[in-house]
Amino acid sequence: MINEILIFLSGIFFGFIFILFFKIKTNKKSDNLNPKSEKIFNPFKFFDLIKDEIIICNKNKEITYVNKSAKKKFGNDLLNKYFSNILRDPDLIEKTNQTYKKKINTFIDIKINQPTFQAYKIKIFYIKDQTEQNDYTCMFIIRDLTDIEKASIIKSDFIANISHELRTPLQSFKLGIESIKNSLKNFKNDHTQNFINIVEKDTLRMEKLVSDLLVLSKIEQQEHRIPKDKVNVSLIVKESLSILDPLIKKGEIQIENEMDDNLIVIGQTERLKDVFINILENSIKYSNPNKTIRIESQETEKKLEIKITDQGIGIAKEYIHRVTERFFRIDPEKSKSVGGTGLGLAIVKHIITQHRGELRIESELGKGSTFLITLPKTI
Ligand code: ADP
Repeated sequence: MINEILIFLSGIFFGFIFILFFKIKTNKKSDNLNPKSEKIFNPFKFFDLIKDEIIICNKNKEITYVNKSAKKKFGNDLLNKYFSNILRDPDLIEKTNQTYKKKINTFIDIKINQPTFQAYKIKIFYIKDQTEQNDYTCMFIIRDLTDIEKASIIKSDFIANISHELRTPLQSFKLGIESIKNSLKNFKNDHTQNFINIVEKDTLRMEKLVSDLLVLSKIEQQEHRIPKDKVNVSLIVKESLSILDPLIKKGEIQIENEMDDNLIVIGQTERLKDVFINILENSIKYSNPNKTIRIESQETEKKLEIKITDQGIGIAKEYIHRVTERFFRIDPEKSKSVGGTGLGLAIVKHIITQHRGELRIESELGKGSTFLITLPKTI
C-alpha cells in the first residue's frame, strides 16, 4: 500500500517537474522569437520618421517632447519652453486653451504674416496619462502648408488681376454694341441685328464670368478671416429677392417667403447676399413658368437653417455632390442659354465655408431641388 502511495506521489512529482520544464522551454522559445522587443520598444522613434512636426506638452503647457522635423523647423532648444512661444498666433493660443480646458481633440488652420508668411494646419490631441491619476498631455501635429498657400495666393492674385484687366475693355465693348444697336434701329437688316444680339449676349455673359472670378478670388484671399458681425439675414434675403425681381417677373415665378423677420446670424452682409442671389437665381433659371420657390427658416440655439425649395428641373443624384465644383454644369448648353458661368455654386460653397456654415443639397430629377444653408448665430 505504502509502495503504491510512494509510486503515486513520485508520479505527481515528476509530472510536475515535466510540466515546469516544458513551460520554461516554450517560454524560452517565445522569448527567442520576440527577444526583449517589448522592453526596448520606443514609439517616439517612429515620430522622428514622420515629416510633420510633432510637439508634446505637459499639463502646464511646457514642451516635453519634440520630434526631428520640429527640431529642424523650430530649433533644438525647445524643451521646457511654452508652446505659445513657438507659434505666436492668438487663435492658436485660444484653441490650445480650449483643448486643455475641455479635454477635447481639435484642429486649427493658422496663417502668420510676420516676420515671414507661414501657414500651418495643426491637430491638437488631448491624451490622458494612464500612469498618473488626473495627469494629461497634449500632442500637437503640425503640417506646414506655407508653400501650398503661397501658390494658391499667386493663383488668386493672377485671376484677380486678369479679371480686373478684362473689365475695362468689356465696358468699351458694351458701349460699342449699344451705339451700333442704336444706329441700326432704323435699318431692316435682321441678319446684322441678330448678330449684334448674339455679341451682346456673349459680352454680358463674359462680364458675369469676370465678375464671378473676381468674387471667387476675393473670397479665397479672405477665407481664413471668419466673419464676426451680427447681420439681419431676413433683410439680406428680402434685398436679394428685390434685386432678382425683374428675373422673377420674366420667369413668371411665384415666391413664398416664409422666413421670420429679424433673424440674426454671424456673417458679412455683401457675401451672404452673393449666396442668396446665386441660389435663388439658379432656382429661377432652372424652373419653368408658374412654378413656386419657397423660403423657410428654422432656428436652434446656436444655428439658423434657411431652406430654399424650388420646383425646377432638379439635379440627378450622381451630380448633386459635383454642382459646387468650379465650372461644373450638368448641361452646359442649358447653363449658357440662361446666362450661367458654372461658378455660382462654387462661390456659394466658399462663402458658407468661410462663415463656418454648411450647405446641403437635396434634389429629385424633374421634381425640384432644396438648398439648406446653415449659419452660426454665435461666434
Ligand atoms: P451656373 O452658372 O451654370 O448656373 P452654378 O455653379 O450656379 O452654375 O450651378 C452649377 C450647375 O448646377 C448648373 O449648371 C446646373 O446644371 C445645376 N444647378 C444649380 N442649381 C440648380 C437648380 N436649382 N436646379 C437645377 N439645377 C441646378
